[in-house]
Amino acid sequence: MAHADDPVLHYDMINRAWQYLLGEDFHYGYFQAEDESLKSATENLTSLMAEKGAFGLDQSVLDVGCGIGNPVCQLAARYGCRVTGISTSGEGVELAVRRARDKGLSDRVSFRVADGMDNNLPDASFDRVWVMESSHLMPRKDRLLGECARVMRPGARLVLCDIMLRRELPLAEVLSRPRDFVPLHYAFGHAKMETMDTYARLAERAGLRVNDLIDISDRAYPTIAQWRRKLEANEAQVRAQIGDQGVAHFRASCDVLAKVWNERLFGYGLMVACK
Ligand code: SAH
Repeated sequence: MAHADDPVLHYDMINRAWQYLLGEDFHYGYFQAEDESLKSATENLTSLMAEKGAFGLDQSVLDVGCGIGNPVCQLAARYGCRVTGISTSGEGVELAVRRARDKGLSDRVSFRVADGMDNNLPDASFDRVWVMESSHLMPRKDRLLGECARVMRPGARLVLCDIMLRRELPLAEVLSRPRDFVPLHYAFGHAKMETMDTYARLAERAGLRVNDLIDISDRAYPTIAQWRRKLEANEAQVRAQIGDQGVAHFRASCDVLAKVWNERLFGYGLMVACK
């Protein structure tokens, strides 16, 4: 199986390279100004999610698709919540555990390898569920949202943000545009994107009440140019991790993302739902 087809292999491979390309947060930024730094913009997105999720002291939080653990370490440090992070990437989990330890947060933050579509966690055990830019990697959104709803306590809140489709994208169109979609596949792994309406429908079907759907595409768009700039600045380090092809696919992907964003095909959304 090619690495890009398997999220475990893909993330085990790119966790290190992406720190040179995306920084420590593996998600888009929320830009308040065009010239804001990527670090500041990615932290803004974490803050926006936390605000929409009404995070607070002593809540128990599940982070589904925790990357290398930066967003939830920020949450635990800022709000004093207790966090369990899960990811299918063993390598990502190891890096996240190390980060929590380095930041002195190990008493409140833990990570384990688990699948967001079948997480094996107890029913009704979390006050907040946080799904930050991992849902596009999970082919069965119904199972993801079903699992989120199952582990939420009554009154608990789900916050989910991710790249979204702004219109339906038929498979025939994907197949007819290999120059666009093949580099994206290799650079970002096998993705299944949906519209915000589809996420909302599936959340409702899982027994949640959707409170908010926010389109932040315009605020997220400057991220793409910043990734491109980071690639030019750190190309040698990235090449050492993911090789010539990896560099070529990432570079081409930045161009494709800008194009599909401008076509209003891809965008970025945030959903808040309660149990
Ligand atoms: N939320 C993090 C990481 C986003 S990258 C951040 O914002 O920094 C996507 C993450 O989802 C990676 O950690 C990847 O390993 C994880 N992932 C992919 N498929 C998954 C699945 N089925 N279940 C849980 N995590 C998954």
